[in-house]
Amino acid sequence: MAHFKEERTLVIVKPDGVQRGLIGEVIKRFERVGLKLVGAKMMVASPEHIEQHYTLDPNWRRANGEKTIKAYRDKGLTPPSEDPLVVNSATLNGLKVYLSSGPVVCMVWQGAHAVQIVRKIAGGTEPLASADIGTIRGDFALDSYQMSDVDKRATRNVVHASGSVSEATDEIAHWFKPGEVISYRLLNEAIIYAPELGSFLGD
Ligand code: ADP
Ligand code: MG
Repeated sequence: MAHFKEERTLVIVKPDGVQRGLIGEVIKRFERVGLKLVGAKMMVASPEHIEQHYTLDPNWRRANGEKTIKAYRDKGLTPPSEDPLVVNSATLNGLKVYLSSGPVVCMVWQGAHAVQIVRKIAGGTEPLASADIGTIRGDFALDSYQMSDVDKRATRNVVHASGSVSEATDEIAHWFKPGEVISYRLLNEAIIYAPELGSFLGD
């Protein structure tokens, strides 16, 4: 089994994040927790590339629709439809427009528990209700499902982050060629991972 520190995840600064000058803010938050940036590029994605990205996991459509319906119910609101796939098809259409509307910054971050740590720092999907203050989505976005659904667009929440280790593996392969992700050593990784720190005293 690979060591914990080998885990990788995909982060995308979405077009709203780029336009609002938040690229550095996003990078800072992942860098300071101790993760290592092993791939980065700016690109403009096609709507087809975005649809493929979100449907790499065949269960995503249903899961996203169910999550949205539950979020409406939790607020005491009526969901746009009772059918998760109907709810999701509007979301997917909105995502294709949103994520191909301008440049995005794609990154691969590596480190122990990278997938879960990055999700925790990114925050929940919906800025209004599920993204806590202190997270990227909670600190830098105010969108809601009800507002984005009325306006027939995807919820703007600044970043994408892979939801699981297997999703991360598939998504990294979808956005990066093998040579674009770089294996290298950071000198200060020893402080985070070395089983014995030894002594820092003396010259
Ligand atoms: P996450 O990005 O947190 O993994 P999902 O994979 O469920 O969340 O959804 C992908 C993206 O689709 C979200 O980040 C958000 O931009 C958008 N989105 C999700 N649900 C809705 C919805 N009900 N209406 C509009 N946009 C949505
Ligand atoms: Mg997701």
